[in-house]
Amino acid sequence: MKLFNTASKKLEEFNPIGDVVRIYTCGPTVYNFQHIGNYASYIYWDLLVRTLKANNYKVKRVLNLTDVGHLTSDGDEGEDKLEKGAAREGKSVYEIADMYSNDFLKNYRSLYLTEPDVIAKATDYVEADMRAVDEMTKNGFTYETEDGVYFDTSKFEAYADFARLDLKGLQAGARVGFNDEKKNVSDFAVWKFIKPGEKHAMRWDYLGRPGYPGWHLECSTIIHEELGEPIDIHTGGIDHIPVHHTNEIAQSFALSGKPLAKVWLHANFITIDGEKISKSLGNVYLLSDLDERGLKPLDYKMWVLQGHYQGTRNFTFESLEAAKQRRLNWRNRVALCYQKDIKSDDGLYDKVLAAVSENLNSAEAFAIIDSATISLEDWQKIDELFGLDLIDGTPDIDDEMRALISKRDEARKNKDWSASDQLRDELAKKNIAVKDTPDGSIWQYLA
Ligand code: AMP
Ligand code: ZN
Repeated sequence: MKLFNTASKKLEEFNPIGDVVRIYTCGPTVYNFQHIGNYASYIYWDLLVRTLKANNYKVKRVLNLTDVGHLTSDGDEGEDKLEKGAAREGKSVYEIADMYSNDFLKNYRSLYLTEPDVIAKATDYVEADMRAVDEMTKNGFTYETEDGVYFDTSKFEAYADFARLDLKGLQAGARVGFNDEKKNVSDFAVWKFIKPGEKHAMRWDYLGRPGYPGWHLECSTIIHEELGEPIDIHTGGIDHIPVHHTNEIAQSFALSGKPLAKVWLHANFITIDGEKISKSLGNVYLLSDLDERGLKPLDYKMWVLQGHYQGTRNFTFESLEAAKQRRLNWRNRVALCYQKDIKSDDGLYDKVLAAVSENLNSAEAFAIIDSATISLEDWQKIDELFGLDLIDGTPDIDDEMRALISKRDEARKNKDWSASDQLRDELAKKNIAVKDTPDGSIWQYLA
């Protein structure tokens, strides 16, 4: 299996460190609904897990939910996103975190995404965060300022390497007067103090003052607690490369003296009708918005898997409609397997798996599927690989339905067109169409 490693900027043969492939995925900040673009990366990482499993690897995967400390900028400025969400909706931060975590997980499951082995809420790891800061401080990587404990990036020689950062340029471009207690412009808070009078509902006592963890810290801490460094694969969005992942790597080195991950995978961004997804453009579509247009979460998953995690993707409703039709076509090919004995082309499934094992090239695998003849047994394996609910979502019909089809065939034979039309309508109500072929009639799903 080959994967493109952001750390080396190369396509590499994947070799796991131990018996179990340990994967960490940076999860959502649970302060608002996630839009369809956000879900694309989880779809790609689901494909990663499924492809590893199809290649007989055992997997342990952790996904975090950021329910504290993520400021509105990647740096240490702005409001805490959770506090902002709570103020917006007149709810407590805990209610906000609960509500949006549940919404995220509901959507996650509607996309048939493999359940992570651990779903780690940042607030459950705050004690561990404090221990991590203690350890980083003991190892000489932090300093304290008026508003928090900062990571001294000059103490980690390789800081600029991962994202090929131009630190001199960054230093020169720093705004005058901005947090002049910071020693280097790239330094970041691992812990923030809450000033007297400052509103921040989530707070923990540490170093004799109330405060909360810096948002990059949770990922290093959770990996340290749940998986151990170095992990095999770390995944996230391309926006995480210059700050969030760079900071995770620095923290984890300060904490454990080890590299954080062997392979780094980053998903590119999706545009909608050629535009960035943004509130001001009114194109922040949710999965629930698709439903209103008769489109299912799995149609969206199909659309996402038609492309590649490293490519920029442009979403349009027309292209989603096409993905829906392609998935329906596959489901009807499954349906045909219940009606005829269909054998696969030689080595079909191996070809599909080989394509997807080449840096998750699902688009190539889909092209193979489109032009092949496939048995029910292989459709089952394909469904296991992509999680598109092709088998359970396309069940064989029952005896009652078979009887209706026979009656319709009989009516047609007797040229009783009105009875035949009536039976066709009855079947259509049950989402079944009957097609007449030279070898007799076959049934298909209408949607
Ligand atoms: P946010 O809640 O806005 O920070 O988004 C969470 C994560 O979703 C980001 O860190 C990105 O990696 C990912 N993301 C945001 N927008 C998009 C997009 N348009 N396409 C793909 N991924 C996105
Ligand atoms: Zn992270």
